[in-house]
Amino acid sequence: MKIDLAVLDRQFEIHQAEYEQAALKVLRSGWYVLGHEVKNFEKEFAEYLGAKFCVGVNSGLDALTLAVRALGIGEGDEVIVQANTYIATVLAVTENKATPIFVEPNEFYNLDAEKIEDKITEKTKAIMVVHLYGQATNMKKICQLAEKYNLKIIEDCAQSHGAKFQNKMSGTFGIGCFSFYPTKNLGAFGDGGAVVTDDENFAEKIKMLRNYGSKIKYHNEFEGVNSRLDEMQAALLRVKLSHLDELNDERKKIAERYLTGIKNSCIILPKISEGSEHVWHQFVIRSENRENFQKYLEENNIKTVIHYPIPPHLAKCYEYLGYKRGDFPITEKFSDEVLSLPMFNGMTNDEIDYVIEVINKF
Ligand SMILES: *Cc1c(COP(=O)(O)O)cnc(C)c1O
Repeated sequence: MKIDLAVLDRQFEIHQAEYEQAALKVLRSGWYVLGHEVKNFEKEFAEYLGAKFCVGVNSGLDALTLAVRALGIGEGDEVIVQANTYIATVLAVTENKATPIFVEPNEFYNLDAEKIEDKITEKTKAIMVVHLYGQATNMKKICQLAEKYNLKIIEDCAQSHGAKFQNKMSGTFGIGCFSFYPTKNLGAFGDGGAVVTDDENFAEKIKMLRNYGSKIKYHNEFEGVNSRLDEMQAALLRVKLSHLDELNDERKKIAERYLTGIKNSCIILPKISEGSEHVWHQFVIRSENRENFQKYLEENNIKTVIHYPIPPHLAKCYEYLGYKRGDFPITEKFSDEVLSLPMFNGMTNDEIDYVIEVINKF
């Protein structure tokens, strides 16, 4: 048996007829950018989350970058960012010339709220939370700190579509920034992203930023960008959104099978924090012997990926920030030990059991 990390055509096949119908409708409509599909998707996704406004953009990175910009955060400002994240979270800060201030994660791979307060200065403007791997972050203390120090909360929800903390959707505690990159739980068939907020003025600002800084065509009020979700992606996302809960439930079943089946003392399984829901964007285990373990899985035709091998503070592009190995030991340990197992909609029980069997023999 040969198992890939993610096989995207399987989830297409689950609802193939609906996708094809939606795509044809757009092709035949004669309207391809900023039309009914985008408007309806924005309305439906906001409703799904329990938020007031959603603005579609071109990618998750753009959602984050425009959110930081629309908050007026820029040069001289500091933003608290989870250290063990994908580089995009940090790029959104530095793209706006602000300074990322890294904070270590907890055992759930999410931001450790206990370590934030020490890093807050007069320059701090926002806390950036990443609901990593699909598990909603415990937002209780983070919201209290934001209130106490008058900070904005920006949530990187690129991996957490539909995950809740205490029955409230991730993306509704602060400004929610979503990616619809094809591998994500709510993945499009190309690039896409969205910013979610309850603040009408803020939503309006993102709408203008994504469209050259204009509300009325050719009346450019500030320097915007071209970052629009297109009609085709929006139409396909509407189909997937209508099935998101069932797709997330399927991932939960795969995770449960892994969690009960994998029995190997060399492997640390993922844990779920109290009050948090996990939608299993990735099923991430840890092993001190990762290199050998990954090689062994490869030899048995099981593909795995490391999310992420180089933490942002050690990335070449951030040499100028002046960090070195040892500055964030927990983050570095995680990046040395984490490994994502195959996890995708349409994965069969035989495939899951094969992965379990191979792992248990390691
Ligand atoms: C995928 C991802 C992004 C970026 O999304 P794109 O749509 O690829 O730009 C940002 N943050 C995290 C945590 C991600 O996983």
